[in-house]
Amino acid sequence: MKLESFWQATAPAFTGATPNPLPATAEVVVIGGGFTGMSAALNLARQGIDVVLLDAGEVMSQASARNGGHCNTGVAQNFTALVASVGIEQASRYYRAYASAVSYVNDLVERERIDCDFRYCGKLKLASKAAHFPALQATWDLMRRTVDPDIMLIGPDEIRQEIDSDAFHGGLVQQYGGQMHMGKFGIGLAQTAARYGAKIYPHHAVTALTRIAGHRYRVHTTQGEVTGEKVLLATGCSNVGPFPWFQRRIVPVGSFVVVTEPLPAALLHQLLPHDRTYVTSMNIGNYFRTTADHRLVFGGRARFAVSNPTSDSRSGAVLKAALSRLFPALSTVQIDYCWGGMVDMTADRLPHAGEHDGLFYSLGYSGHGTQMSVLMGQVMADALAEKAHDNPWQRDHWAAVPGYFGKPWFLPIAGWYYKAKDCFS
Ligand SMILES: Cc1cc2nc3c(=O)[nH]c(=O)nc-3n(C[C@H](O)[C@H](O)[C@H](O)COP(=O)(O)OP(=O)(O)OC[C@H]3O[C@@H](n4cnc5c(N)ncnc54)[C@H](O)[C@@H]3O)c2cc1C
Repeated sequence: MKLESFWQATAPAFTGATPNPLPATAEVVVIGGGFTGMSAALNLARQGIDVVLLDAGEVMSQASARNGGHCNTGVAQNFTALVASVGIEQASRYYRAYASAVSYVNDLVERERIDCDFRYCGKLKLASKAAHFPALQATWDLMRRTVDPDIMLIGPDEIRQEIDSDAFHGGLVQQYGGQMHMGKFGIGLAQTAARYGAKIYPHHAVTALTRIAGHRYRVHTTQGEVTGEKVLLATGCSNVGPFPWFQRRIVPVGSFVVVTEPLPAALLHQLLPHDRTYVTSMNIGNYFRTTADHRLVFGGRARFAVSNPTSDSRSGAVLKAALSRLFPALSTVQIDYCWGGMVDMTADRLPHAGEHDGLFYSLGYSGHGTQMSVLMGQVMADALAEKAHDNPWQRDHWAAVPGYFGKPWFLPIAGWYYKAKDCFS
């Protein structure tokens, strides 16, 4: 078993880096070379704007290359809960933003001919307990009347037509979810940005920011400095770098993934005849999908822990056990890849994007970012270029996470709380 991301291990290498030294100035400096930063750099360079992108490591090496591979519609929390917290109008706006983010990814893939196995496949949310089905039913009823007339409810008697497992009691299908090879997409995005003229500097960790005036910042890195007329922060949940205001608002939470050896196509078809993306209804649940070469990608918040090699392999064992429970036919399959990554969780589990102290930012996708980060790259590029844009995540106020100063001491408590909730509800 390799302790590395399948997406990274099976993607081509990035060949578009700009040689040192850094230029003295740029119209825009983008900090972070994941989906958000790279999509912004691509859209800026495509408009002829002089853009420098800096990454602390290799581009596409953090969440954008370490995720579960789902590119779905829908926010991180369930729609009914979202309506209860922000009202139907705002919740509908957010939901539609996710739907347009998925089609934005599809259009970008087609326009730039990025070879990444993108396909619409629909997302099936599975009721892990009979008691969870009525909530799915209520969500279905609300969503079909408001934001998604095509959403489908699958009753307990029909669920075996969707998944060959005893573990589920019905489900909800959102038809417009998709999936892709995240490594191939990310590298394709980066190559396209470089081709349009973005100057991309891996291994340039930002160590300090000096505000000169207005939006203009001097950006200090481990390999020189560059002054940006404007700067976009696209650093995910990084706790490295001079961004304390943002770091108090985003909690990095580990999530883990395993990938099986290639399986007989007929077996996968028997288990998952509609070949969708799948997510279970538990708080500490699982998400899974297949790959073009017939593997199963199976992830979850196996443990409330950070990601490192020891933690990843322990979490891999937890995931393997869960996989065998849901699909006994797979209990002897070999796990080829196992990794973890840090999810950029905000208190309201929604992204935040805008401007703070003259710095532009788009962060905090809370585990649902493979589509939204790509769309937000374009939205922020338009904001930086002072063009009309529709930013669904611009809010007047973004409160710090109470009691959080960089060490997420409360994660084990959250873990116990959600485990108890899963036992009793
Ligand atoms: C295990 C896991 C599973 C997930 N599964 C899904 C899923 O199935 N579906 C979904 O929609 N979302 C999923 N997500 C979330 C999704 O992957 C992210 O929301 C999205 O990739 C965020 O992209 P980003 O560009 O904002 O951040 P990142 O990809 O994290 O990029 C940030 C970049 O900033 C760089 N950086 C940080 N600090 C500095 C610094 N000081 N100087 C320079 N550069 C710096 C980093 O090196 C990194 O390259 C998952 C995330 C994880 C971790």
